[in-house]
Amino acid sequence: MSALTIRGLSKFYPGGVVGLHPTDLTVEGGERLVLLGPSGSGKSTLLRLLIGLETPDAGEILVDGVRIDKLPPHQRGIALVPQRPALFPQMTVQQNLETVLPRPERTLPAAILELLRLGELLRRFPHQLSGGETQRVVLAKLLIRKVSIWLLDEPFSGLDPVFRAKFRQELHLLLGQTSATMLFVTHDPADAWSLGRRVGVLGEGVLHSLSTADELRSRPTTSFVASTFGGFNLFDGGIERLVSPSDPSVESKLVFVSECGSVRIAVPDHSGLRFESTHRLTLGIRPEDVRSGPAEQSAWLLVSAEPAGSGWLLTVAQGRTRLRMEWRSGSPPPVGTPLEWILPPERLHWFDGRTGRRLDV
Ligand code: ADP
Ligand code: MG
Repeated sequence: MSALTIRGLSKFYPGGVVGLHPTDLTVEGGERLVLLGPSGSGKSTLLRLLIGLETPDAGEILVDGVRIDKLPPHQRGIALVPQRPALFPQMTVQQNLETVLPRPERTLPAAILELLRLGELLRRFPHQLSGGETQRVVLAKLLIRKVSIWLLDEPFSGLDPVFRAKFRQELHLLLGQTSATMLFVTHDPADAWSLGRRVGVLGEGVLHSLSTADELRSRPTTSFVASTFGGFNLFDGGIERLVSPSDPSVESKLVFVSECGSVRIAVPDHSGLRFESTHRLTLGIRPEDVRSGPAEQSAWLLVSAEPAGSGWLLTVAQGRTRLRMEWRSGSPPPVGTPLEWILPPERLHWFDGRTGRRLDV
C-alpha cells in the first residue's frame, strides 16, 4: 500500500489560465479518495501532473515519502485511467492485456479475468466492446500490472446511466480485491457518495475541503462546497436591523434579506454569529430541510416536481428566485399551485458572501 503526497503542487497554462493553485494533499496507503469538481476545475490537470504527462510550475510529488516528480511516467508506480481510455485497436483484448503482463509471467491471471468477467471478451477487438466493457479491460490491465496507485479520471462519464450504476458496483467489488491506493475524480456527487470515505471538493483549481461525505454535507466549509456537493439552496443577501416602529426601546432584530428581496429570515438570536462585521452573506439550506405546505396567499408558485428517492423534489419560484424542497406527503400538488415554505432556523447555514467561507466554524 503506497501513500501519495503532494506539496505545493501548481500548474498555470499559457495566458495565466489556472490549472491548479498550489495544493497540498495526502492520499493514505490503500485509501479511496474522491475529488469532486465541476468541469474545468482542474481535476484532469492534477491527475496529469501526478502521472507526469504535465510538468508542474512548482511543488513536489512523493510516493511513500520519496520524490517521484522528476521520474518519467512509467517509473512512477502510478497508473492513470483517462476519461476515454484507449486500447491498441489492432490487437484483441487478450493481446492488449498481454502487453502489460510482467515478465516472466506468460499467462493472464485467471482470477482477474474471472473477476472482471473478461473470458468471453478475450478474442474481441476494441471496436467490438461497449464503453463499460472497455473500462473493465482497462481495470484488468491495472490489476495485471500490479500498480499500487490508481488514478481514475471520471471513468463513468462515457457510460449511460444504467451502466454507470452497474459499473460503480463492479468497481466496488474490484476494490475489495485490491489494496491499491486510489484517487478518483468526478463531477458527479453520486460517485463521491458511493466510493469515497473522504471526499475533496475542487473549484477553479483550489481544493476547498477534504472531509467525509457526511461532514461535507452536514457542515460544508464554503458555499461552493454546499452547492457542488450538497445541492443546497443558496441566497446572496445582507443583514438589516429592524427596529420596532411603535416602541424603539424594544431590542432590534436582525433580518437576512436576499438580494431579490423575496427571502426574509429573522436571524436566530442564539446563532452566535457576528453578522455586523460581514456586509454580504450567503444563506444556505438543504432541500430536505425546507418545510412546506399549501397556502392560498403565497407568492411562491410550484414550477416543477421531479421524483427523488421515495418522495419528490419540488422547485418553487417567486419571480426569478427559486427554492428547492423535498416533498414526502404523497403526490405533489399540480404545477402552478401556491406553496408556503419555512426555513427552520437550526437548519440554516451562513457563509461570508465575499469569501464564501462558513461563518460558524
Ligand atoms: P477538469 O478535468 O476538472 O474538467 P481540467 O484540468 O481539464 O479540468 O482544466 C482546468 C483548466 O485548465 C480549464 O480552464 C482548462 O480550460 C484549462 N486547461 C486544461 N488543459 C489545458 C491545456 N493543455 N492548455 C491550456 N489550458 C488548459
Ligand atoms: Mg477532466
